[in-house]
Amino acid sequence: MQKLVAIKGMNDILPPESARWEWLEEKVRALMARHAYRNIRTPIVEPTPLFVRGLGEVTDIVEKEMYSFEDRLNGEQLTLRPESTAGVVRAVVEHSMLYDGGKRLYYLGPMFRHERPQRGRYRQFHQIGAEALGFPGAQLDAELILLAHALWQELGLQDVRLELNSLGQPEERRAHRAALIQYLEQHQEQLDEDARRRLYSNPLRILDTKNPAMQVLVEGAPRLMDFLGKESLAHFETVKAILDESGVAWRLNPRLVRGMDYYNLTVFEFVTDRLGSQGTICGGGRYDYLIEQIGGKSAPAVGWALGVERVLELLKDQGVPVPELVADAYAIVPDAAALPQVMAQVQRLRALGVSVQVHAATGEGMGSMKSQFKKADASGARFALVFGADELARGVVTVKPLREAGEQVERPLAALADWAATLQSSR
Ligand code: ATP
Ligand code: MG
Repeated sequence: MQKLVAIKGMNDILPPESARWEWLEEKVRALMARHAYRNIRTPIVEPTPLFVRGLGEVTDIVEKEMYSFEDRLNGEQLTLRPESTAGVVRAVVEHSMLYDGGKRLYYLGPMFRHERPQRGRYRQFHQIGAEALGFPGAQLDAELILLAHALWQELGLQDVRLELNSLGQPEERRAHRAALIQYLEQHQEQLDEDARRRLYSNPLRILDTKNPAMQVLVEGAPRLMDFLGKESLAHFETVKAILDESGVAWRLNPRLVRGMDYYNLTVFEFVTDRLGSQGTICGGGRYDYLIEQIGGKSAPAVGWALGVERVLELLKDQGVPVPELVADAYAIVPDAAALPQVMAQVQRLRALGVSVQVHAATGEGMGSMKSQFKKADASGARFALVFGADELARGVVTVKPLREAGEQVERPLAALADWAATLQSSR
């Protein structure tokens, strides 16, 4: 029989590693709540035209990275979401969520892109994203950057820097684009194959080239920043003023353009040098024209998405340990006949907030006391609870500390709530 394995570039996330994911997700939920961002959950599969229209036809994602297929039953063209902004916008429009004002939303979940798998780049990966829709002010751009920055602090993430740019408005970009094309045309002989291909379709992306032979050319190219009008510049100044006052360091990166077509005004990335060429852990910006593009009534918006795998990789690289998840207690069951009573008592304890792992039979009977204590030790639990027939008959359980000094004591089953309370306060 053919061996069944996971699809290349799609990972199983197993314990104990999964504990780190839960830890991160809990931090994110708490942080979002403190910033008054509310959770939104949209489908993983969307109609293909949503992404073609939303992200832009000549973007890397739409050109070559989408998992698209035809619904076998009705022939509809579908795509596994490569990102979530388009889906969030679709949902916001579909449910008229902006009718009573702006909304601050966040999401987390898997995304799918058909890329070459390598460290920090997978085909199923996970993003956490935040979006503020319906607000025009630069205040929101800054709020979202502060939110991401607060998350790095909360996680203890180091060596992350913030890069900022402004892409201005479409008419400013058009003027810059014309000047840029004219400049590049004058230096045709210095363009590499990629640049020639992009000269008329996406000249801004040429500025993003990694080709060393083209760096001098790129340095001398007309700068978008010089084409921005008063309003665009003022918007950018407000963002920077808020960041400065809050003590968040940033660096202007005039070459920062981002992969999707939908951005305008502020764009930003959080970057680290510690993950090789997969160094961008979070990226975002303002996208004031996307809502209309997707068929809604024109409304401004801004947001970001972070790559969970890359953030976790960076934490691991920094030696932040995986939080240990061990049960408070391991229940020892000397006699299988007592199992119904033990299971009932353990459920009571769990309802009181105590985590309990019950010894499970591996063969005939429950196994010797010795082997059960060995398992209890290996589990890492703080206490062993011995539910012997004699103890149960007397209405007590023996509590034996496994990780700390102290004698074993008998406790009345009727008074376990007290024990649960002291245990939780000493965790
Ligand atoms: P890159 O330049 O690394 O391809 P991107 O511009 O395609 O990134 P975005 O679409 O902005 O990335 O997605 C936001 C974040 O999601 C990225 O900064 C990154 O951390 C993460 N990310 C994107 N693609 C992948 C992937 N294939 N595997 C893992 N994480 C990813
Ligand atoms: Mg990419």
